[in-house]
Amino acid sequence: MADSGEERRAVIRQRLADGSLPRSRPSILAPANAVVQPMLTVGVGDGQPCSACGEPIGPQEIQLAYRYSATTRVVVHQGCDEMWREEVTRPRLT
Ligand SMILES: [Zn+2]
Repeated sequence: MADSGEERRAVIRQRLADGSLPRSRPSILAPANAVVQPMLTVGVGDGQPCSACGEPIGPQEIQLAYRYSATTRVVVHQGCDEMWREEVTRPRLT
């Protein structure tokens, strides 16, 4: 499998551009006394595709699951999470 960082970054940029990957991380808006699930869960992959690069996240890899709402989750590889963060914090060049 080609694991060129730049290829993966290009996919992440494309997904940010077309809206399939959010440009922001979930924010915590729940009231203090609400029962809140953690907005970020870190664990091993279970084979579902990464929201950033599209490759399955296997059990030998670390996945980060961001919870935006009861029905919306974004699950990414640990490495993709770093690239995602870099891409959304990078100054826009256009
Ligand atoms: Zn990924």
